[in-house]
Amino acid sequence: DYRFARRLASLEASATAAMTARVAQMRAAGIKVISFSVGEPDFDTPEPIKQAAIAGIQANHTHYTPTGGTLELRKVIAARVSADQGLSYGIGQVTVTTGAKEALYLAFQALCDEGDEALIPAPYWVSYVEQAKLAGATPVTPQTSEQTGFKLTPDQLRASLSERTRIVVLNSPSNPTGAVYSAEELAALAAVLRDHPAIIITDEIYDAISYVPYTRLLRVAPDLAERTLVVNGAAKAYAMTGWRVGYVAGPQPIIEAIKAIQSHTSTHTSSISQDAALAAYTPNPDIEATVAAMTAEFQRRRDLILGLLAEIPGVTCTVPDGAFYVFPNVSALLNRPLRNGKVCTTSDELNLYLLEEAHIACVAGEAFGAPGYLRLSYATGSEEIRVGMQRFREAVL
Ligand code: PLP
Repeated sequence: DYRFARRLASLEASATAAMTARVAQMRAAGIKVISFSVGEPDFDTPEPIKQAAIAGIQANHTHYTPTGGTLELRKVIAARVSADQGLSYGIGQVTVTTGAKEALYLAFQALCDEGDEALIPAPYWVSYVEQAKLAGATPVTPQTSEQTGFKLTPDQLRASLSERTRIVVLNSPSNPTGAVYSAEELAALAAVLRDHPAIIITDEIYDAISYVPYTRLLRVAPDLAERTLVVNGAAKAYAMTGWRVGYVAGPQPIIEAIKAIQSHTSTHTSSISQDAALAAYTPNPDIEATVAAMTAEFQRRRDLILGLLAEIPGVTCTVPDGAFYVFPNVSALLNRPLRNGKVCTTSDELNLYLLEEAHIACVAGEAFGAPGYLRLSYATGSEEIRVGMQRFREAVL
């Protein structure tokens, strides 16, 4: 008889992980599944970054590092954050984490008590909600709409804030919608945030992958820096998902609290990964050119998949301005017979239908608090996009 902690009772298993497992099973059975479900670049880590890691192993950088990362790494990251935000961050205001995911987890752990609320605009990256719950907080998830490009409006923000709001999460470019907030939109949200003492988490992990001029909250509202945590990481920009390097930068007392938890849990991410990240974050024209080329390629694929989705009757899609996801509205495909007479009543069912019938793997909107949609990652080859969208089309005609 296994007994689990009460806080696990409301924890939802990751839908993306469940999809990955089912795809693996089908592929093992010889079925050629095309996957649009993964949240990572299909590119390899740039060569100079890999070489730095190899050199790190050979130099025996195989011991513990300080909690929150080596001094050198924190120094280059502090410089990077300072340049990004147009503010001055010292190394005491930065800690390196095991991916941005750990940065977020530690922030919730450090800041939330039972009864606190975490304001997380939907559609959201699901881990925010689960991490808030693990920290005892109650997620409050205002629904953004296609009409605003899936962006939270100042009125929605004001209506969702309460005296119990402890954390407000902003994510631009967004996973799953690809929405990128403009300077005006951020300034309007900042005007509301100024009247409320919540801590703001700005998750900027897709910042390198923006197809419109990119602005950050603190660029338009530097006065909020004293209660804003900037979260970012190497995974998406540098095709480094497996290395597990992220960071959080913000007011020193909060960073100290986060490091205190870190010192009793992971201590730090792998020393070798830190050597790799040091190369990634040290200014280098070669690496910057590679990142720019990857982003340009993502934009080509975005345009390709948008064009092909537009040819599928019953599917409409807002144009994402960043990240590598499209988030089509598939509600017109529900509650009517598809090929073979099959009727799906939810996007979850449609998603399974597409997997079994068309052998394409997407993630249903339900996983992001937005039923009626699918999320497709286009961090995959152009040919796979073409064949996959053809299969999608044929399965729903
Ligand atoms: N934040 C968002 C919005 C993401 O989509 C992801 C990864 O999918 C993360 C954070 C976590 O990234 P990392 O791999 O650095 O933990």
